[in-house]
Amino acid sequence: MDTVKCLIIGSGPAGYTAAIYAARANLQPIVYEGMQPGGQLTTTTEVENFPGYPDGVEPFQMMDDMRRQAQRFGADIRSGVVTKVDFSCTPKKVWVEDTELIEAQTVIIATGAAAKYLGLPSEKEYAGRGVSACATCDGFFYRKKTVAVVGGGDTACEEATYLAGLCKKVYLIVRKPFLRASEIMKQRVMSTENIEVLFEHNTLRLTGDGKVEGADLVYRKGEADEREVHIDIDGFFLAIGHKPNSDLFRDFLQLDETGYIITRPGTPLTNVDGVFAAGDVADPHYRQAITAAASGCKAAIEAERYLKNNAL
Ligand code: NDP
Repeated sequence: MDTVKCLIIGSGPAGYTAAIYAARANLQPIVYEGMQPGGQLTTTTEVENFPGYPDGVEPFQMMDDMRRQAQRFGADIRSGVVTKVDFSCTPKKVWVEDTELIEAQTVIIATGAAAKYLGLPSEKEYAGRGVSACATCDGFFYRKKTVAVVGGGDTACEEATYLAGLCKKVYLIVRKPFLRASEIMKQRVMSTENIEVLFEHNTLRLTGDGKVEGADLVYRKGEADEREVHIDIDGFFLAIGHKPNSDLFRDFLQLDETGYIITRPGTPLTNVDGVFAAGDVADPHYRQAITAAASGCKAAIEAERYLKNNAL
């Protein structure tokens, strides 16, 4: 059985950055990459907002760069999925694929979050060709174009407002007759001239020749005045919520009502000593590669401090 100083679960920008810092601090970290090596970022087409890449970078390339940087300092990066943990003891216990048990003095959780999708076949068909779940990441590619955002919460309103600053026109597709978002966000959306809110609309399918060029919607489905509506769009942004990948830790860590790991404000410290959370699994607000990377750095520094303070 392996006993390690630092075990990192997850391989997005948070996990790899934690690995770089932990490896350079001689913690000899083991990283389990999980089901989606490279994390959520690898579902986008190009990264233009990560400092250090003036010409933009293909996301797989960027994640491979981070991975190799961590390996250069000795991080042991393994493929495999963590399926069970026990944080009630010291050292912490972590099982990989249900069978292999690893004991770890510190654990950094960087398992990320997954954007929710509507579940339409055409969302998959046009993945990376007009469908996105992150306006901040991909909005720039739709400058002066027409896009739609789906959702009626704060994220949808925030993304619609952000896109309205870049795009010619933004449709906000809302399934209810009202926005669930906070009052200030509602007002911002309703007072932005190039946002058109389509209340009581649901998306049936996306259309287009090789890329998104339109969407078929249904207005007031099941009502007497039900009708189909077509909109011409170049981009389709999902903003119907995220699901943090935290189910595994539910028995040991404090989670908020959506499932985000609760950390002490401004730190990666969880309610369990020696267990740290970094990146989107603990961040309902920013959800950017750069903020995830920064929190991975903090987690590794805290892990090192914890080991020192406890003479481990
Ligand atoms: P929410 O769960 O608040 O909203 C999700 C929205 O998506 C709802 O309008 C919901 O509709 C809609 N939706 C869900 N499923 C579907 C579907 N299948 N088809 C169509 N529409 C659907 O998620 P958010 O990501 O907006 O917010 C999450 C949390 O983060 C909230 O607490 C929010 O306040 C917070 N947040 C705060 C921000 C800030 O303070 N600046 C910014 C962003 C988020 P319905 O209303 O009908 O259920």
